[in-house]
Amino acid sequence: MPVRATKRGTERTPLNRDCDVLICGASFAGLAVARELARTGAEVMVIDRYEIGERQTSACGIPTRWLEVLGLNAALQQTFGELVIHTPHVTVRCQLPWTFSTFDYRTLCALLAEQGDFTFETATVNRRDGDSVLTDRGEIHAPLVVDALGWRRVLGAGEPIQPPEAYLSRGLEVHPHGSGDDLEVWVDRSYVPAGYGWSFPAAEEVRVGVGSFEPRFHVKQPTVRLAEDLEREPVRYQGNWIPHRIREATESGVFFVGDSAGHCLPLTAEGIRTALYFGIAAGRELRAVLDGTQTRPAALAAYGAFSAAHRGKFEWMLRSQRLVPRVPPRILAPALRAIGTRSFVAWIFGHYLRIAPPEFALRSG
Ligand SMILES: Cc1cc2nc3c(=O)[nH]c(=O)nc-3n(C[C@H](O)[C@H](O)[C@H](O)COP(=O)(O)OP(=O)(O)OC[C@H]3O[C@@H](n4cnc5c(N)ncnc54)[C@H](O)[C@@H]3O)c2cc1C
Repeated sequence: MPVRATKRGTERTPLNRDCDVLICGASFAGLAVARELARTGAEVMVIDRYEIGERQTSACGIPTRWLEVLGLNAALQQTFGELVIHTPHVTVRCQLPWTFSTFDYRTLCALLAEQGDFTFETATVNRRDGDSVLTDRGEIHAPLVVDALGWRRVLGAGEPIQPPEAYLSRGLEVHPHGSGDDLEVWVDRSYVPAGYGWSFPAAEEVRVGVGSFEPRFHVKQPTVRLAEDLEREPVRYQGNWIPHRIREATESGVFFVGDSAGHCLPLTAEGIRTALYFGIAAGRELRAVLDGTQTRPAALAAYGAFSAAHRGKFEWMLRSQRLVPRVPPRILAPALRAIGTRSFVAWIFGHYLRIAPPEFALRSG
């Protein structure tokens, strides 16, 4: 269970501490790392600029099995057995070999945090200086540091690469009240030349958005248009940059997990289960250091190699991301019809799930 030590606003006190593990970022990646460090007896601190679960960072869609294996079912909102793909020329309903669910961000973060055992503080991370992390409230010193801060990779060495030059996509969605039965995507250049639109129903709201693989393309107007075309109100915006290229998962003694390591899958922009998956992997290596069965350099090397072993699959998806927008819409329609067959969908989605399989969470360290 996380322990909350300090208040917000004017009651914020200076924060100068030592701890065994400092996890920067309390979303999917950071909380997954913390979960693996429960019952080690180590002093684990998690920091984030917001309260846990305060700011939703995605449309919150995930393969249902990932919620099950992590004991997060109470956050589940809606489950889908089909993916409906719309193009200007055809609509294809793909029967998925596994189900996909939407969940409530705040509930999921709270449940994940309960499985950990750490002190939580709100603080904004500015940079790193040796083994110290400098925040707006002071300096925290830890021999083991995790950057789970998202695409900015705040603790990376050197100047951060800013969009639009960086390997980033951009995504924006609205969250109108309402309901729906289908998990839908639009591959339609009238909304976005390279990217896709989506509608993810989640109990009493529908998350409608547009993502562009080309960071220079602005997605606000297409998001509004898609919402209006679906007769949904364009209200309650949520958006961010989405990394679409895997990066080194360790650097200068820091473990990078989730978006900070580019662990979001290109083409689909699915980054939640990968953040959980790589978070668990990093957590296991850190746990071995705390148990005294592994050194810090060995943990960094093992986690770095684990992440790098996935590079081929991420690069393959990036090539597909670059290829799909070049396929003429007239060819896309028959291609989609052909791949819409049950056996092909089962094959391709089976491979896709195995990039970050839920069963990984059940294996012991
Ligand atoms: C519009 C949109 C919709 C998406 N929908 C989906 C989806 O349905 N399914 C899916 O799998 N993926 C989706 N994604 C991608 C997914 O959101 C990310 O890949 C995922 O959130 C990565 O998790 P993370 O924990 O690495 O980073 P994040 O979830 O981005 O968390 C980073 C955390 O760090 C904190 N932080 C950042 N900077 C600082 C700082 N300087 N100091 C302190 N704290 C800081 C933030 O407050 C946040 O809590 C979507 C992305 C977007 C933009």
